[in-house]
This record gives sequence, structure tokens and C-alpha cells, in this order.
Amino acid sequence: MTTLAVIGAGPAGLTLARVLQRLDAPYDVVVLDRDHGPDDRPQGGTLDMHAGSGQTALERAGLLDAFHAVARPEGQDVRLLAHTGETLISHVAGPEEVAPEIDRGDLRALLLDALRPGTVRWGTKFDRIDGTDLVLDDGSRLAADVVVGADGAWSRVRPLLSPARPEYSGVVFVEFRLTDVDTRRPDLAALVGRGSMSAPYANRSLIAQRNARGVVRGYAALRRPADTPDLDDRDVLLGYFADYADELTDLVRAADEGFVVRPITALPVGHRWEPVPGMTLVGDAAHLMSPFSGMGANLAMLDGSDLALALAEHGPAGITAYEELMFPRSEAAARGAAAGIADAIAPDAPAHSLRHLSQMLQEA
Ligand SMILES: Cc1cc2nc3c(=O)[nH]c(=O)nc-3n(C[C@H](O)[C@H](O)[C@H](O)COP(=O)(O)OP(=O)(O)OC[C@H]3O[C@@H](n4cnc5c(N)ncnc54)[C@H](O)[C@@H]3O)c2cc1C
Repeated sequence: MTTLAVIGAGPAGLTLARVLQRLDAPYDVVVLDRDHGPDDRPQGGTLDMHAGSGQTALERAGLLDAFHAVARPEGQDVRLLAHTGETLISHVAGPEEVAPEIDRGDLRALLLDALRPGTVRWGTKFDRIDGTDLVLDDGSRLAADVVVGADGAWSRVRPLLSPARPEYSGVVFVEFRLTDVDTRRPDLAALVGRGSMSAPYANRSLIAQRNARGVVRGYAALRRPADTPDLDDRDVLLGYFADYADELTDLVRAADEGFVVRPITALPVGHRWEPVPGMTLVGDAAHLMSPFSGMGANLAMLDGSDLALALAEHGPAGITAYEELMFPRSEAAARGAAAGIADAIAPDAPAHSLRHLSQMLQEA
């Protein structure tokens, strides 16, 4: 039996583990995560699962029906608003929409529930490799034949393969949440609708997405230096949106306590590395890109499932086949994501979003 250590229980690592176990491949799979449990920290917003990537991975994991049972096809409704509150585009999703939404926490639960008991070791933070041993931050060791870095943006495994580091995109997101929105603020529930809304204007945007269980998740996006102070202060944040209509900035006023500042970073477009036997990366660890691709979690899961298929078919040598598949597709998506963030949070916003969305809806 080959011991496969997966560092990180995000969408990439969990999909890899699940597909390998489902194939009954001869690997003893252990997933390590620094979180102390699946609900250790808020899992963030909603993800749309695309046909051909996230949904392909879910099918390989045997979880496509379970996904559709909890997913929200109506989450594909899109509203584009001017900073004055005027509606520019309002698209209501039809039955042909192909990328239903799921809350990130629900997706994690779906994947976790499908794993053999004990596969994930919570509260174990990978620190470094010493010979064939993984060294955890409490000093304990774990011998592994194959190591997969599924440990996200600031991967500790990546430096063993590549010197690349994420770079700041110039855009910072401030994340917030509104709970019980339907009863507490029906006006804001109506503003966001069943899916998502955005109001890009002059190097900023207000973005809000409907999540499950009466929650709306919002992001105030600003093109500002990464170290701009006090963006997690409601009043300071509102000051940056003073020229927006109150009906939009009420999203920020009505938000729960607890604003989270997330500078948006990305790896260089086309990031790749020379093959290293018995070691590779999946998901954000391999190709962190701005969320404007809408593909990060989708690609992470496709990576996980492709690597599982390659390892099952070719043994650890299958890593090379996986990397050859993953490098070009993630390069294309990363190029799109870089253009997406440059165009959406731009001085002439919402010009590009208006053109892009109109064209997309025409083609659909
Ligand atoms: C604001 C925002 C919105 C987004 N929206 C979308 C969207 O709509 N659609 C989409 O497809 N993608 C979206 N993304 C991107 C998506 O969130 C990521 O691409 C995806 O989560 C990557 O999955 P992953 O498994 O590679 O990494 P992660 O989800 O980051 O998981 C990594 C895991 O590794 C663990 N870990 C880290 N370091 C260690 C360590 N040293 N030891 C042990 N464990 C460790 C972490 O605790 C974590 O559980 C969005 C991202 C952001 C920031």
C-alpha cells in the first residue's frame, strides 16, 4: 500500500481523497488540515459548480445527485446595478442554467461525509519535509510515499517545487455577512434577489450573493494599496463608497459585526514547475487566481479528480500525466481571471461589466 499524504481539506484535497477511495485504488490516503474541525472557521460564500469542471469532479466522486439535491440553480440569477441604484441588467436564470450554486460549507460537508472515517486528521498543520517524513508543527512526523499540496494560496508545500509566490492584484475585498436577511431587511433581500448582484463603479464594486439559510454574503471591492488601514471598520469602509446610493450601501450598514479584509492575490499566469517524483500541487496551491474567473474551486476539484484517476491508473508516476493536463488549462483560466479583475474594478467601471454580461447573456 502506498501512503499518500494530502495537505489541506479544501475542495481540491477532499475531492482527491474521495475519488481515490471510490476507485478502491491501492493508496492509504490521509488528509491533514490545520483547522481543528470542519466548522473551525467560517467557510465563506457560495460557489457555482460548472459543467465540465466542478460537476465532472462531483460525478467522478459519485456525488453529483447529492449536489443537485442541495444546490440552487436559481443562484444563477444576475443583477448588474449602477452606483446610483439603477438596474442595468437583470437576468433570471432559466432551467437551462448549467452552474448551480452551493454554499462552501455544504460542499465541504458533502465531500467529508463521503470519505472513509478517520481519513481527515484535523488540527494537524504541515510544517516541512525531512527526508521521507512530513514534519507537523507540533514536531510529530508522518512517513509518506506521495505528498500532495492542496493547502491553498499560501501553500507550505509549493516552495518545495517552485519559488513562485502570490502577488497582490491591486484589489482588496472586504467581506461581510447579513443573517436573517429576509425577515430583517426584505428590501436588501430583494436588492440581491435569488442569485447575485454587483454595482461596479470607478475602481470599486459592491457585490452581494444569496447564500443558503437566509444569509447574504457581501464583498466591498476597492482598488487600493494592500495596507490601506481600517477597512474592517464599517464607517471607514462606508467612506470609500460615499458616492454610492444609500440603498446599495445599506448592505454595509446592515451587515453583521465582523468585516474580513481579503487582499486578492494571484500566482503568475502560467505558473508551473519541473517534475519532482512523489510530489505535486492541486488547486490554489498550484494556480491561485483572482475570483473573477469564477473557476478556482471548480479547477481545484477537477485537479483533485484528475490526479486521483492518474494515480489509480499509473501509480505515483501518474503525477506527470496529471501535471501535463493541469498546466495549460489553469494557465488559460488564470489569464481570464487576471483580465477579469483588471476590467471589472477599473476607472471606467461599469463599462466592461455591462459589455461582458450583455454578450454572455446573448450567447447563452
Ligand atoms: C472572495 C472569493 C470568492 C470566490 N468565489 C469563487 C467562485 O464563485 N467559484 C469558484 O470556483 N471559486 C471561487 N473562489 C476561489 C476558491 O475559493 C478557491 O479557488 C478554492 O477554495 C481552492 O480550493 P483549494 O482546495 O485549492 O484550497 P482551499 O480552499 O484554500 O483549502 C486549503 C486547505 O488547506 C488547509 N491548510 C493550509 N495550510 C495548511 C498547512 N500548512 N497544514 C495543513 N493544512 C493547511 C486550509 O486550512 C484549507 O482547509 C473564490 C475565492 C475568493 C477569495
